[in-house]
Amino acid sequence: MKYPTLTIDTTKFKQNLNKVYIMAKENGVTISVVTKGFCALPELTKLCIEAGFCDLADSRLENLKKIDNHPGIRKWLLRLPMISEAKEVITVADISLNSEIDTIQALGTEAVKLGKCHGVVLMIELGDLREGILVQDAVAIAGEILKINGIKLLGIGVNFNCFGGIIPTNNNLKQLVCVAADIERTYGIKLDIISGGNSGSAYLLENNLPTGINHLRLGEVVLLGKETSFQHQLWDLHTDIFTLHTEIIELKEKPSMPYGESGLDAFGEKPIHVDKGPMKRAIIACGRQDVNTDKIIPHDEQIHIIGASSDHILLDVTHTDKDYRVGDIVTFKVNYASLLSLSTSVYIEKMLVY
Ligand SMILES: *Cc1c(COP(=O)(O)O)cnc(C)c1O
Repeated sequence: MKYPTLTIDTTKFKQNLNKVYIMAKENGVTISVVTKGFCALPELTKLCIEAGFCDLADSRLENLKKIDNHPGIRKWLLRLPMISEAKEVITVADISLNSEIDTIQALGTEAVKLGKCHGVVLMIELGDLREGILVQDAVAIAGEILKINGIKLLGIGVNFNCFGGIIPTNNNLKQLVCVAADIERTYGIKLDIISGGNSGSAYLLENNLPTGINHLRLGEVVLLGKETSFQHQLWDLHTDIFTLHTEIIELKEKPSMPYGESGLDAFGEKPIHVDKGPMKRAIIACGRQDVNTDKIIPHDEQIHIIGASSDHILLDVTHTDKDYRVGDIVTFKVNYASLLSLSTSVYIEKMLVY
């Protein structure tokens, strides 16, 4: 085995997919499985499709491109498109989330040129203050979109838990349903999709999701078994599909207090140290270029992360029962933030386990 490696337990991944599929189906909601956490690794997107999901979503066109055009599979671009990439968006994605009429115009122009029809989900701002149009503008803007050739207004959506730390509730999601009803009544149309958010909304699924919300975009719940709003595990899903494996490249007893004249570290910060006396220190071959060390947790609870630079993570192994040696492997639990960066890092091997 090569290190550092991110292992992915495909058996557990399939079980999570199946469970989420059933929960969604029982509650009358369709799901776009969000693939950005694993950069749309083809082996894993294949498992999503085999589990019955027909909608796959990602923030990056580079990831969506890796998903083969299966018949009947719709590819969603989650991040608002750049006008400069309009043509590529039409080529690669079937649907995109949008909040700017100029961008939707640009998408329409390219769609007509390519003889395609592109689906638009109009994002509504409901308090988290990332993307979305204000509620009072929704009906007028929907009217503008309906006039654009090459574009089909598929529905509306909302995003929470991303910037403002605002969580989805029965109350604010009801507002989304009301906006949809206003648009439908004004133009005499039916919107196919009312998308009630990301994994932060999953906790509402069983009993408190307002009637009318018929779609969610789920990454974290499937990948890490947790909803975002309270970080609770849901439906006995697996929380340990992904594991980081790293190798020790130095292990020595050294002082815990750096010595010499002190200045700035490699990241321009002035580190603060506490003298804990002599310390058994391990260095593992993995660093801040791959992962934020605040976001990984050693499986061996007696190991403490001291710090990290771009390619090294320093561990305190003074008080471990295990007698670590150079060449030993140290493994870590990952959260969503670390999963994103580890998946993206070209220096991290990805290995499927069955
Ligand atoms: C990332 C993202 C999601 C998925 O979020 P999870 O917390 O992984 O479920 C949904 N919608 C948008 C717009 C996103 O950017």
